[in-house]
Amino acid sequence: KPRTLLALNWKMNKTPSEARIWGRELAQRFTRGDAELAVMAPATHLHGLREALPGGVDVGAQDVSAHESGAYTGEISAAMLADLGVVYVVVGHSERREYHGETDAVVAAKAGQAQANGLTPIVCVGEGLEVREKGEHVAYTLAQLAGSLEGVGPEVVVAYEPVWAIGTGKTATDDDAEELASAIRAALVERYGDKSAEIRVLYGGSVKPDNIASICAKPNVNGALVGGASLKVEDVLGMNDAL
Ligand code: 13P
Repeated sequence: KPRTLLALNWKMNKTPSEARIWGRELAQRFTRGDAELAVMAPATHLHGLREALPGGVDVGAQDVSAHESGAYTGEISAAMLADLGVVYVVVGHSERREYHGETDAVVAAKAGQAQANGLTPIVCVGEGLEVREKGEHVAYTLAQLAGSLEGVGPEVVVAYEPVWAIGTGKTATDDDAEELASAIRAALVERYGDKSAEIRVLYGGSVKPDNIASICAKPNVNGALVGGASLKVEDVLGMNDAL
């Protein structure tokens, strides 16, 4: 099994000053566990947060432009993030797909830009409640994955986040997570062959200190992407210790 990744997604929370304080508090209290830890923060926070975090804890961004550079007002390129020492970037989060109309093709272009600049994209996929209720969640998610990985190399992390479990307190069962993680793993083996062995498949959706261990113990789940429970140092220490 590849090394477990505990990926925190702060979403649009905290100020840059609060992020630095958080990073320093983590640095004081953190002991390195078995899992790798990375914090996906708003772009404004990345520089200060990277300086405050303990060694070995990486920073990631939550989005990146699909374009290399040029006249794209307001956008942030993968090269800019790489220059800050950013390691990961989340692409295709369901909130970006839903509120910003990101298609699979846009997500794939963003992942490609990330890789071209040495960043590892965390490609998010997952079905909504309607799809789940029709029993079409596996086919839907795999189609989304195929579209989102078009032209993308194997240096990638995949996060399965069922939309109905995000921020709702309604966690998928361990077996629900494993069902999709194993289907995603099979698709990755088909796409990348032997190079798929190091790819981590994460679960996301209402993960917290008391459920992370059992989800991540599933054979095809290689970590978690955590929203709400990523904001307090206490919860992050709890999850880190549980892994
Ligand atoms: P919650 O952990 O708040 O459900 O959010 C999950 C998520 O969207 C992480 O990207």
